[in-house]
Amino acid sequence: MKIALIAHDKKKNEIIELAKQYQEVLANHELYATGTTGTLIMGETGLSIHRMKSGPLGGDQQIGAMLAEGKLDLIIFLRDPLTAQPHEPDVSALLRLGDVQCIPLATNKSSATVMLEAMKSGIYFA
Ligand code: PGA
Repeated sequence: MKIALIAHDKKKNEIIELAKQYQEVLANHELYATGTTGTLIMGETGLSIHRMKSGPLGGDQQIGAMLAEGKLDLIIFLRDPLTAQPHEPDVSALLRLGDVQCIPLATNKSSATVMLEAMKSGIYFA
């Protein structure tokens, strides 16, 4: 599967924890990420990730473009719901396209854990 990983700044530690915990699962897939998220995950794990631009500089839109073309199968996007984001329109657009394509899209760590556990156990492997 093609999987996108994105996390707002206050959620970066959570996505790194998830990537470490499910490294063996994620390693079987083609990974994409916004710039800073991708750099951090690659630095903390052995995972190989295609990095887009940083989110506020257009990375969310690049991920959105992949979505629009049907090129992503699953997204983990750990959003910070308590901090205003300068690129909020890009964030909303990405989430909307995820629903348009009807792909699994986790916006918090608990949902992401459910998806990763399903992948780990082989229940979900689109
Ligand atoms: P970043 O972008 O990984 O470059 O920090 C994430 C975002 O804010 O959308």
